[in-house]
Amino acid sequence: MDKIRFATVWLAGCSGCHMSFLDLDEWLIDLAQQVDVVYSPVGSDIKEYPQNVDVCLVEGGVANEDNLELLLKVRQRTKTLISFGDCAVTANVPGMRNMLGGAEPVLKRGYLELAEHSPQLPHAPGIVPELLEQVLPVHQVVPVEIYMPGCPPPADRIRATLEPLLRGEMPVMEGRDMIKFG
Ligand code: SF4
Repeated sequence: MDKIRFATVWLAGCSGCHMSFLDLDEWLIDLAQQVDVVYSPVGSDIKEYPQNVDVCLVEGGVANEDNLELLLKVRQRTKTLISFGDCAVTANVPGMRNMLGGAEPVLKRGYLELAEHSPQLPHAPGIVPELLEQVLPVHQVVPVEIYMPGCPPPADRIRATLEPLLRGEMPVMEGRDMIKFG
């Protein structure tokens, strides 16, 4: 049987969800024997998201043009997309900037009003990705197959989500152990 082509992606999040993934400890060795890791910020240096990915964990909200471009590519090339953690599911922490009402007030607040020295707006097209007006949860941009809340989702929840997928089954995301936020 072909191994599952497995990926993880980091959008606008703190990487805490990926740290929780690493908390799977020795089960990561079992996982590594059952999947090909084809893209991930953890333990891989692959620059381009590949074609024909079976399962992808997407951490973080969609906050800037780079996030948006990568997520559209991920969706196009992935069979089962998992919205991984509260930032992906609800926009959560990065979404707190939405209350300021848009990208420009956020930049002004951060780089002008709060600057102690040399206030200036970051403007480096092609280097600094442009902020989107609002930070969006993943499902408001692309369809999602599985929602895995948690800030971060505990390692047991990650394992309980991935194990059925490795058997070719969909996980049952029900009950406190699987769908608790925070
Ligand atoms: S859900 Fe929590 S742990 Fe995960 S990226 Fe967001 S803030 Fe970090």
